[in-house]
Amino acid sequence: MSLIVAKFGGTSVASPERIKNVAKRLVRMKQEGHQVVAVVSAMGKTTDELVGLANAINANPPARELDRLLSTGEQVSMTLLAMAIEALGYKAMSFTGRQAGIETDGTHNKAKIVKVDNERIESALAEGAIPVIAGFQGIDKNGDITTLGRGGSDTTAVAVAWGIKADVCEIYSDVEGVYTCDPRVVPRAKKLDQISYDDMLELASAGSGVLQSRAVEFARKWNVVIHSRSAFSDAEGTYVKEEPDMEEAVITGIAHDTSEVKVTIRGVPDSTGVAARLFSSLAGNMVSVDMIIQNISLDGYTDISFTCPGADLPRAKETLDRVVGEVNAREYVVDEDIAKVSLVGTGMKSSPGVAAKAFTTLGENQINILAISTSPIRLSVVVDGAQATQAVRCLHTAFGLDSDSVFEEKQLSAEEIAAKMMKGR
Ligand code: ADP
Ligand code: ASP
Ligand code: MG
Repeated sequence: MSLIVAKFGGTSVASPERIKNVAKRLVRMKQEGHQVVAVVSAMGKTTDELVGLANAINANPPARELDRLLSTGEQVSMTLLAMAIEALGYKAMSFTGRQAGIETDGTHNKAKIVKVDNERIESALAEGAIPVIAGFQGIDKNGDITTLGRGGSDTTAVAVAWGIKADVCEIYSDVEGVYTCDPRVVPRAKKLDQISYDDMLELASAGSGVLQSRAVEFARKWNVVIHSRSAFSDAEGTYVKEEPDMEEAVITGIAHDTSEVKVTIRGVPDSTGVAARLFSSLAGNMVSVDMIIQNISLDGYTDISFTCPGADLPRAKETLDRVVGEVNAREYVVDEDIAKVSLVGTGMKSSPGVAAKAFTTLGENQINILAISTSPIRLSVVVDGAQATQAVRCLHTAFGLDSDSVFEEKQLSAEEIAAKMMKGR
């Protein structure tokens, strides 16, 4: 008998029928002798719709009010799931983030969990009920509702699993686990049986939407085993844990992220302190700069490019409208249609030649590289947005990641991929 936290994402609870299926699955786990705590996301695209509503009222909705609004999505699904469990003759109790004791810092829209007080969850379990917790939300020290960033129900699940010392945190979604790449983009992506925290964290941070990076970070810190699996089948999924039993491949997986933009500042005087001035101003306006490229200087002037999340672009523009003139640079231009493609693998550390092979592959496929960045276990390149899918697919093949079977389910259009990537942030 195990103590299991089972988190169901938006697709898994998108309709009354699906909620009933989740209830049946939870009841089955209980019948098998397990103790189970459910965590739910909002139904289907509810969160997107609520964001849309807020933007229709106010282009820049106050963060505190937005969090309050967004938290309602999960409160609908948690109560419906509890009702569905009760309809099967089993006891269930739903809990908001506050009731579940999820305490966070005060950073609205992107709050960090600082404490989990699982008293009510423990007592519900002791009464034989299935606790159903609203994901994605917590409460700050002022008693205000906060949310944990898009995809944040994953983090709720991991935090609760840690709090109640669960044996495993099962994260159910619409795919059978973590693949070598998004199977909707690369149909020959392979499902991984296991992946280390380090590789998973790097993939999640680089845009693999299947698990929220905060959740993986939390799991790594507190050694919570995650089992990513499908809500629609009983197949074993992917275990995210410290030491995978299998031999490490050079490349574990490929992620891509279309949510960043590239900004180039042209005609920047090549003198001491100018870069410091530019990037201090951007940081001062909360622009999270990712990659930076400085060209060689010509006649005392150079070009500097950087990438940042698309969401930060309005603040980047606001900053540059002012600073470009102040440092006597000529102008800046924005390229919104780019994609960052990242190869990830702990095995990269001990295997030279990954960059050479990646660049050769891209070159042979006429894909121009706009920027490069590396870490010991990641190589990222920025390419034109229109070539993103092709880049991911040819790299996937070149690094021997293709599976013999083909993922048959719905493949995504470029727009749908972009929307998914935005959501993961
Ligand atoms: P949920 O709404 O249940 O949280 P998500 O949409 O957040 O589910 O995550 C599942 C989706 O993640 C899949 O539908 C898939 O398209 C996408 N995805 C991106 N990268 C990967 C990957 N490496 N492996 C599996 N799925 C991935
Ligand atoms: N409902 C939230 C979102 O769509 C949280 C989640 O699904 O994990 O981002
Ligand atoms: Mg998710």
